[in-house]
Amino acid sequence: MFDKVLIANRGEIAVRINRACQELGISTVAIHSEADVDSMHVRIADESVCIGPNPVNKSYLNTHSIIAACEITGAQAVHPGYGFLSENSSFAKMLQDHKLTFIGPKHSHIEAMGDKIQAKKMMKEFGVPTVPGSDKAIEDKKDAINISKEIGFPVLIKASAGGGGRGMKVVNDEKELSESLPIVKQEALSFFGNDAVYIEKFIDSPRHIEVQVICDTHGNFIHLHERDCSVQRRNQKVVEEALAPGIDEEKKEKLFSICVKAMQNMGYLGLGTLEFLYENGEFYFMEMNTRLQVEHPITEMLTRIDLVREQICVASGEKIFTTQENVRPLGHSIECRINAENSEDFKPSAGTIGLFHPPAGNGIRLDTFIYSGYKVPHYYDNLLAKLIATGRTRNHAIKRALRSLNEIVIDGIETNIELHKKILSSNDFKNGSVSINWLENNITSL
Ligand code: ADP
Ligand code: ADP
Ligand code: MG
Repeated sequence: MFDKVLIANRGEIAVRINRACQELGISTVAIHSEADVDSMHVRIADESVCIGPNPVNKSYLNTHSIIAACEITGAQAVHPGYGFLSENSSFAKMLQDHKLTFIGPKHSHIEAMGDKIQAKKMMKEFGVPTVPGSDKAIEDKKDAINISKEIGFPVLIKASAGGGGRGMKVVNDEKELSESLPIVKQEALSFFGNDAVYIEKFIDSPRHIEVQVICDTHGNFIHLHERDCSVQRRNQKVVEEALAPGIDEEKKEKLFSICVKAMQNMGYLGLGTLEFLYENGEFYFMEMNTRLQVEHPITEMLTRIDLVREQICVASGEKIFTTQENVRPLGHSIECRINAENSEDFKPSAGTIGLFHPPAGNGIRLDTFIYSGYKVPHYYDNLLAKLIATGRTRNHAIKRALRSLNEIVIDGIETNIELHKKILSSNDFKNGSVSINWLENNITSL
């Protein structure tokens, strides 16, 4: 096991990782930008290093400074969290070259899954059902039109290197396709540094269902069941729950065994999430995230497995402490992503937090980094907190989430707490199985 780990992230996830390290007896190094000097992740870490000015490319994405910080502090491993460098295979490779451990999968797997075209191709070869579409990068308009006609409009143009819900566009006919193709390619280049795009059948009203896996170097490939992340706005998750309501057990078991087989075939290591669209009883693979996921706590609450602890353990070469037979999800868990944003236009809001009162009580977990008087900088992601409510049944979890949303106080800054109350008290959500379009279609009438 490592003695010292550097946490290459900020916000709630840096706090979350710090907790897992300290519980394992690992001492921690926080890194931070100038604006983040008073941030919670810096306060609770054993040591901290300022690695640069506020823009992310000068601080949290500054790989050279991060490696220097490891060398100065004697950290043996780096936990990248999510976002930032978590899916950057060159960074993982750089660490290896410096004899440092990247707490995550092998860099070759990060690279393979980060290229969504290649990821789909590989999964298809392993027998995973995928969304119909092109199996290589689109060459030109003619190529795009041929493929779209073959699978049938509407189709989605997607950036192969895309992420965070960005870099995709729905097109309904040939004309729209010809107009949008160069625009999406240009956006892909400027956001993700790679203009490769592919085409996928646009699935009309699916649900987003994902499967969590964890693998070690001792031949253990385990799935931790599924999460339903269909409540989305602009292809970004807002509310997640586990398990997914109303899906046939047999169908799920079949999917899990396909996922586990794919991981065995790859020789995958660490945590991973296979994301699927689910419509009319069928699953279609979209992408695999080779990192810790924002919504990992709902799986932790149901399985009683500390995913971050296990992630660190398997990265250090240890065995997963449990077996597939002993993974038994119990109850229901719901996560609300509490963002600093305007409730009308959803623009991120920054400012100083006045009074902060966290909710508590049976079945409630709040993963956050904010405190009364904390100044939320405008440079970074606007996720303030994740409220996780767990109950014996789905109905119980919803009631708990609602009562804790009524308890929480975050003054001085705009948040989407009211939106969460509306979502969780709506009949559609209570009835279960809303599609990925539901929130956007109903946001004004909720
Ligand atoms: P999850 O699937 O874990 O819910 P999200 O899609 O919400 O993850 O992404 C987690 C964080 O990482 C968000 O802050 C998101 O903006 C960021 N992110 C994910 N992928 C990328 C990417 N390719 N480029 C930039 N940011 C990304
Ligand atoms: P990201 O890397 O940004 O997370 P994904 O490929 O996972 O990209 O897609 C993000 C979201 O976009 C999905 O959760 C889903 O809501 C929507 N989406 C993606 N592909 C399709 C598709 N083929 N048809 C309909 N919706 C899609
Ligand atoms: Mg995704």
